[in-house]
Amino acid sequence: MLFTKSTRSLRTQLILSLTVGLMMMTGCSSIKTTVVGMSVEDRPIECQQIGWGRDTVMIMATIHGNEAAGTPLVSKLAEHLKEHPKVLKGRKVIIMPVANPDGYVHNSRFNVNGVDLNRNFPADNFDASQRHGAYALCEPESRTIKAVLDKYKPNRIVSIHQPVACIDYDGPAAKLADAMGLHTNLPVKRIGSRPGSLGSYAGLTLNIPIITFELPATASAMDRESLWDAYGMSLVAAIRYPDAQLH
Ligand SMILES: [Zn+2]
Repeated sequence: MLFTKSTRSLRTQLILSLTVGLMMMTGCSSIKTTVVGMSVEDRPIECQQIGWGRDTVMIMATIHGNEAAGTPLVSKLAEHLKEHPKVLKGRKVIIMPVANPDGYVHNSRFNVNGVDLNRNFPADNFDASQRHGAYALCEPESRTIKAVLDKYKPNRIVSIHQPVACIDYDGPAAKLADAMGLHTNLPVKRIGSRPGSLGSYAGLTLNIPIITFELPATASAMDRESLWDAYGMSLVAAIRYPDAQLH
């Protein structure tokens, strides 16, 4: 049978809406990568969106450039989510693999202006200084992270650090921290809210549950597979929370 132009486009529309419907029902495992901002030295800051649902989980790594074990870990997480699309049913996961790309390249905690980005957020406890920044969000990297929060309005956030080896949290995240703790050997431990940190801003000022996932120093020497074995299911638990089922 021959299709006229209009029946063809009708058919295309039908297939498209069926596909979108199916994606919404089953979760979608394709990864959409977007450059969401640029660093001081003009390196791109990327976000990957996996899934399309309303429940939104943000997972970021390497806001401190010398605490970089989270970056290979979230790369494995993205693969896992592609292979297990059921985890994405009704939700999307926003992954920022390297929040401080200049610090990552220079193996430095700070950005190239010498500012600790994790002290530069407009939390109620922001404390201006050379290391924290002259004012909140004075750095392009922290502004980019804030813009991503504004855009996606995540329901919960995990930010991966080193080397304290614990699951720290801010805001209404005690149960989320416990749920993550069931799947790794890191203890749940409150470190206390640092001035102008993402934990203080998201957790206390915005009331979003946020986990500071502190891997040990030894995580730097672990390959992607070992990192995944040790910490991967804890991240999946954060994504699926409050559902305790992992697959
Ligand atoms: Zn850190």
